[in-house]
Amino acid sequence: MYDFAVAGLGAVGSATAAELVRRGHSVVGFDRYRPPHTMGSAHSDTRMIREAWYQGSPYVPLVRDAWTRWKRLERRSRRTLLRTAGALMMGPADGRVFAGNPLASVTRPDTGRVSLSVQEVAGHFPWLRPDPGTITIYEPGAAVLALEACLEATLEAAAGADLRFDEPVLEWSASASGVRIGTARAEYRARRLAIAAGAWTSELVPELALPLEVERTVQYWFEPAGAHAPALADGPAWVWELDREGTWYGFPATARGLKAGMHFQAGRGTEVDRVDREVGDSETEALRRLFARYAPGVAGPLVHASVCLYTNTPDENFILDRHPCHPRVVVFAGGSGHAFKFMPVLGALMADLLTDDHPPHDLAPLSLDRFRRGAA
Ligand SMILES: Cc1cc2nc3c(=O)[nH]c(=O)nc-3n(C[C@H](O)[C@H](O)[C@H](O)COP(=O)(O)OP(=O)(O)OC[C@H]3O[C@@H](n4cnc5c(N)ncnc54)[C@H](O)[C@@H]3O)c2cc1C
Repeated sequence: MYDFAVAGLGAVGSATAAELVRRGHSVVGFDRYRPPHTMGSAHSDTRMIREAWYQGSPYVPLVRDAWTRWKRLERRSRRTLLRTAGALMMGPADGRVFAGNPLASVTRPDTGRVSLSVQEVAGHFPWLRPDPGTITIYEPGAAVLALEACLEATLEAAAGADLRFDEPVLEWSASASGVRIGTARAEYRARRLAIAAGAWTSELVPELALPLEVERTVQYWFEPAGAHAPALADGPAWVWELDREGTWYGFPATARGLKAGMHFQAGRGTEVDRVDREVGDSETEALRRLFARYAPGVAGPLVHASVCLYTNTPDENFILDRHPCHPRVVVFAGGSGHAFKFMPVLGALMADLLTDDHPPHDLAPLSLDRFRRGAA
């Protein structure tokens, strides 16, 4: 019998397995594929880590803890996992990006974050053309995580575990003596189970009827073009809410190109096993129109496009909690398009619940109860 089993070895599951191994436990981990792979939520070069978005929320202590853990993993793995590139939060004052983010606290001087006028944005980053009235917060310390390197380093840290790839968990059951996990190859036993199956989580806990929506989203890479092309690798990243078109994001250019895409789009809910993995020309054209209007001349030919999945909760907060009927089982779900940066701290929190350690962060905002209360 293993001490712990982990179903799903993507962002949160791999970090959970690594943390349990670090604490000296025997672990068996399963994944449907072999991470890093392109079928779930964790692929495609880069993820942002920044603090301003979360100002005043319980995520601030989590993101600070995550920074420390990423730095530690970077040292131990001897890989480059983070690169400071700065990030812009942009949008109308009354829009979604700034809702709940009073500007005074977002721009606290001790964090280095500053508010930029439209003219200042054009002065610092002349390829960006915000509309008049756009509010911009610049966070110079924000960084870009090298996604695949982060996953590989975490899986290496979990190497003491029995990691079983291309072996999806098909079923599990829990009793007073432990959990039983069934795959197409064998049956396994562990004392406790972590479920972190991303967009597939509902399939493993149908009895919880989790309020999760799987959203198909596309990441595009364009060849950097024009006079500003050499500067595009330096930064910044941006999350930019527009009046009519929605919220789009962009990353500093990598060897693959300049990556951009749309953040949260209504009506993209889908079933995880029926996701359309093809990217249509009209989708690419929609993004090109944004570049033409708001960052003209920098997006050259399309290099690559890749479908990725958000798993959204109604309030966009994660779920990290014990299974209400099976205390031996802990569930993470609902990354809602922003969980990657927190990966090492979420893994540690999963490990805390599994080992009955007291978590150093308040997990009430991530509880399953909040939906049950709403349903009552
Ligand atoms: C386009 C895009 C951009 C994003 N940008 C950012 C960003 O800038 N910053 C940020 O912090 N976050 C970002 N995110 C969000 C972040 O990547 C996700 O929230 C995070 O990857 C979710 O982690 P997870 O472990 O829940 O899911 P995943 O990382 O998808 O892992 C789930 C794993 O479970 C496995 N699995 C599924 N079913 C089973 C089964 N039955 N048995 C065994 N294994 C199974 C899957 O194969 C997969 O490997 C972005 C997401 C997308 C799609």
